[in-house]
Amino acid sequence: MPGFELFGEEERKEINDVMETGILMRYGFDGPRKGIWKSKELEQAICERFGCSYAQLTSSGTSALTTAFAALGIGYGDEVIMPAFTFVASFESVLSVGAVPVLVDVDETLTLNPGAVRKAITPKTKCVMPVHMCGSMADLDALQEICKEHDLILLEDACQSIGASYKGKMVGTIGAAGTFSFDFVKTMTCGEGGVVMTNDKDVYTKCDGYTDHGHDHLGVDRGADLHPFLGYNYRISELHAAIGLAQVRKVDRVLELQKKNHQQLKNILSQVPEVSFRIIPDPAGDSCTFLSWFLPTEEITRAVVAELKVQGILAGNFYWFDNNWHYIRKWDHLKNAVALHRLSPEQTDALTKFQSQDFSASDAVMGRCISTSISTLWSEEQVKEKGEKMVEVIKKVLSK
Ligand SMILES: *Cc1c(COP(=O)(O)O)cnc(C)c1O
Repeated sequence: MPGFELFGEEERKEINDVMETGILMRYGFDGPRKGIWKSKELEQAICERFGCSYAQLTSSGTSALTTAFAALGIGYGDEVIMPAFTFVASFESVLSVGAVPVLVDVDETLTLNPGAVRKAITPKTKCVMPVHMCGSMADLDALQEICKEHDLILLEDACQSIGASYKGKMVGTIGAAGTFSFDFVKTMTCGEGGVVMTNDKDVYTKCDGYTDHGHDHLGVDRGADLHPFLGYNYRISELHAAIGLAQVRKVDRVLELQKKNHQQLKNILSQVPEVSFRIIPDPAGDSCTFLSWFLPTEEITRAVVAELKVQGILAGNFYWFDNNWHYIRKWDHLKNAVALHRLSPEQTDALTKFQSQDFSASDAVMGRCISTSISTLWSEEQVKEKGEKMVEVIKKVLSK
């Protein structure tokens, strides 16, 4: 997910525009800023590139999710169904608005299993949040069907899948709202930043106010703005937005390079009959930031990971099953409800129940999965060499 790999003069130019005026804040200072509005420009560019009516920039992907929950009216007393494989930010944002995260199994799409979502619905369920992990997408038709049937809100955490699409529409623009992260390792970066995308003007207006202390942005100056509801400060700065503006223009190039390298690597690994690949609900829409593949058993997968390490080629290969940040197995702080402040009794109760919840269906998927991150900088020769070394390692383990 390498926006940072293609970084240079274009970013410097955008930053310099802001440095000329010294106006680092996205609101106000209309005179001194001399027509430079990087955040507004980036929001417009995001609407155009990804095909949504409204975009609200935020300080991070995490605050984008928090903002989206608030704007969609999700909070205390509500349950949000989400996958057990994601980045911790997904449940952090649920907890931050006072709602309860309900973690359910993933399948070989590495995202929500629609059957598991159905089983988790209670009278308190308000929202289903698929997380489009590792560059590819959830089965959105199935999830939308469930949401329609049960009158639930679909919020897409598309933070990791900038530029992926599902049946012709960009992920993140399909649900009631969707989010991207522009942190340093995402497909495009602002250094830090995020965005909420929506086609609903009311949701957008709420995001706009919530991220800026509740300002309605209708006054003649900031002091004259009204505060129709409570908000926080989740604003992005003009410097970060300036970087994003240069980066959003590179997304097509990034996707093109990722797709090429992904296909070449996949062709090489396909030579091993025991290797299978992640199910992609719309293969044409894969953003190809990762190639995710499976081995027949957890034992074999662990042996391959160990051998990749011995051969010095483990870097860039992620075994999420043992990763502290992406899978329920290692989220002891969550399962023990270790927070710095008191959580609601409903939250504490729900979190501690994760200790005994059966995630064996997800374990059976994640224990066999390795995701190889795809670089935009690889030459054809380098992909060939990398792929062939990986095949050698896999074959060596399988022959034992
Ligand atoms: C990166 C990420 C986030 C959070 O983004 P930050 O900008 O780092 O706060 C949320 N969800 C997922 C799935 C992510 O990968």
